[in-house]
Amino acid sequence: MFISKIEVYKLSIPMEPFVIATGTMDYAQNIFLKIYLDNGLYGVGECSAFPMIVGETQNTCFEIAKDFAKIWKGKSPLDIDQRIEELNVYIARNSTIKSAFDMALYDLNAKIENIPLYRFLSGDKRKVITDITLGIGEAREMAEKAKKLVNDGAKILKVKLGEKVEDDIDRMAKIRESIGYNTPIRIDANQGWTYSEAVDALQKLEPHHIEFCEQPMRTYEDYKLSKLRNQTTIAIMADESVYDHHDAKRLCRNNSCDYINIKLSKSGGIHEAIKIHEVAQKYGVKCMIGGMLESRLGLAAKLHMAYALPGIQFFDLDTCMVGHLENPVKGGVYYKNYEVFINEGVGIAADIKPEYLEKCESWVLR
Ligand code: MG
Repeated sequence: MFISKIEVYKLSIPMEPFVIATGTMDYAQNIFLKIYLDNGLYGVGECSAFPMIVGETQNTCFEIAKDFAKIWKGKSPLDIDQRIEELNVYIARNSTIKSAFDMALYDLNAKIENIPLYRFLSGDKRKVITDITLGIGEAREMAEKAKKLVNDGAKILKVKLGEKVEDDIDRMAKIRESIGYNTPIRIDANQGWTYSEAVDALQKLEPHHIEFCEQPMRTYEDYKLSKLRNQTTIAIMADESVYDHHDAKRLCRNNSCDYINIKLSKSGGIHEAIKIHEVAQKYGVKCMIGGMLESRLGLAAKLHMAYALPGIQFFDLDTCMVGHLENPVKGGVYYKNYEVFINEGVGIAADIKPEYLEKCESWVLR
């Protein structure tokens, strides 16, 4: 049994314009892979490039994917450790495109054993409720959106902050004014504050019952995190500061965070995510599973993994609900009142619709 063919697709999913510091993103820059065995079985993998955070684009992912395909062609899918090691030896970083290959390899291995991916990872289904993210905007607009989401059944809100402190406080005050205190709110500053701004903001946000704050400061300020934790009762979650298990160890050892946000696009996939989770468990640090702009297929893979990692206690699995205008996926995750489900099936139990792939730019190694 060996890898005989690899197909790489630019899976561009149209989106409601998503405004970010460097401009407007009007499609999700995803890559989709099919890795075939000589017996016809294939595994699927997806990644979502987020240039401003990880430093990869859909185009860089597409080019590196060609090299990765050549490295894996003719090799056995069974030796996961060695396959992942080959990609890491070939090129540093590029964790987003690595995660698509990692996902397809895990999907393939579960399919070879004819079991769901979560079973292959020794997991069990459990109740998972996702938050829903509220992008940064004018305070009143955000409060109205929050109200709409809560009326629509949202159980947990994730609010993007990290701008001028007094504006952020105003945003949160107006949101709480409009939805009350029954809905948990977690916030994400995406590295937006300096140390003194973070102290100021978090102390002033305490009365608004914040579940935790993701990534208050730039990653180069990590050494100030433990000091920050002494200044506020709001729990701190590391996101951009943790790509791999070495980062996790560094932060946990220094009491720098209460929680860690695991994303496959940062870790390079499930293989390394398991190691991050292991470190976090050792230090009693709970994890969240998050993401970039993955479709219901990438989300399904994350849910399978979360079923197998009990330390994952927070779920930010809303990426396909935040502005995707099309659903290219057959199967994958689905939602009932913000509870997330997957159908029972072999592997990830999701695929991209063939008619959708026909219009995607692609490259094939046979
Ligand atoms: Mg974050």
